[in-house]
Amino acid sequence: MGLSPDQLAEIAELRSEARPTLRATAPGIEAHLYEARPVLDHGFVRVVDYMGDDAAICQAARVSYGRGTKSVQNDEGLIRYLMRHWHSTPFEMCEIKLHVKLPVFVARQWIRHRTANVNEYSARYSILDREFYIPAPEHVAAQSEVNNQGRGATLEGEEAARVLEMLKADSTRAYDNYQSMISTEGQQGLARELARMNLPANIYTQWYWKVDLHNLFHFLRLRADAHAQYEIRVYAEEICKVVADWVPFAYGAFEEYRLGAQTLSATALDCVRRMLKGEELTQETSGLTKREWRELDAVLKG
Ligand SMILES: Cc1cc2nc3c(=O)[nH]c(=O)nc-3n(C[C@H](O)[C@H](O)[C@H](O)COP(=O)(O)OP(=O)(O)OC[C@H]3O[C@@H](n4cnc5c(N)ncnc54)[C@H](O)[C@@H]3O)c2cc1C
Repeated sequence: MGLSPDQLAEIAELRSEARPTLRATAPGIEAHLYEARPVLDHGFVRVVDYMGDDAAICQAARVSYGRGTKSVQNDEGLIRYLMRHWHSTPFEMCEIKLHVKLPVFVARQWIRHRTANVNEYSARYSILDREFYIPAPEHVAAQSEVNNQGRGATLEGEEAARVLEMLKADSTRAYDNYQSMISTEGQQGLARELARMNLPANIYTQWYWKVDLHNLFHFLRLRADAHAQYEIRVYAEEICKVVADWVPFAYGAFEEYRLGAQTLSATALDCVRRMLKGEELTQETSGLTKREWRELDAVLKG
C-alpha cells in the first residue's frame, strides 16, 4: 500500500487520541476511522470523517427531537420503508469523507459522479510518486467478444508476459522522463504542470471525496455492480464493507432494494405476469427486443 512510515505514524497518532463529543457516533465506523484499507497494488480507501448513523436517518424522516424512533426494530423497519419507496432525502443527512488513492484512469470514471465534493492532489504543485497500477496476471484479460465495454478470458503465456512487461517498461520510461524534465540540475527544469502530461493513466493520484449517503448508495449501485470495471469495482466493494459497519440498517436496505434488486420495464413485468399464468413466451411473442429478452432471461435465471 502506498503509505510512507511517516504517514502511517500520523494515522496511528490520530487513532491513539479519543475525543469526547455530544454528537451521535456510530461505533461500527469509529473502528475504521483513519485506517487505510488497501485496494489494487498501491491504492487505498480510508475514512477521514463521517456524520450521522442509522438513527439520524430516522430522526430526519420523523423530523424528531430525539434519536429517531422508539425501538431498534422500528428504526430498521422505517429505513427499509424509506429505501423501498425511494424516499431518499433522509439518507442525505449522513455524510462520509474518504481519502482515496487510485489510478488516474479509475479517477476518470469516479469523477463522473458529480454529487460529491472532491479535492485532488495537485500535480501542478507537487511531484507525483513513482507508483503505477500494474494489474495482477489474473486481471490481464482479452477484449470481450460479447461486450464491447468489457474484458473476456485471461491472457495466457507469452502474450500475458509481454503485455505486463510493456506496461511496466512504458510506466518506468515515462516516469524517468518526467523526473528528467522537471529536474533543475544543470537546466531550468520544466514546470510540473507541463511535465505531468507525459505520465500514463495508470499513475496513482489521490483525493478527498465527501458524499452523502444517498449519493454514495447511487455510486455503489453502479460501481459495485458486475458491469463496472474491475479496477473501480474493488474500491466500491471496499467502501461497501465500511458502509455496512457504519449504517447497518441502511446498508441492509440498500442491499435488499438496490444492489440485489432488479428493475423491470412495463413490458418485462407483463411478460412475468403472463408466464405466471402459464403462457409459453418466446422473444417474438414477448414484445421485447432480442437484447431485452436476453436480459430478462438472465434476471429470471439469476
Ligand atoms: C458500467 C458503466 C459504464 C459507463 N460508460 C460510460 C461511457 O461509455 N461514457 C461516459 O461518458 N460515461 C459512462 N459512464 C458514466 C455514466 O454515464 C454516469 O456519468 C456516471 O455513472 C455517473 O452517474 P450519475 O450522473 O447518475 O451520478 P451523479 O453525477 O452522482 O449524479 C447523481 C444523480 O444526480 C442527478 N444529477 C447530477 N447532476 C445533474 C445535472 N447536471 N443535471 C441533471 N441531473 C443531475 C441525476 O439524477 C444523477 O443520476 C458509465 C457508467 C457505468 C456505471
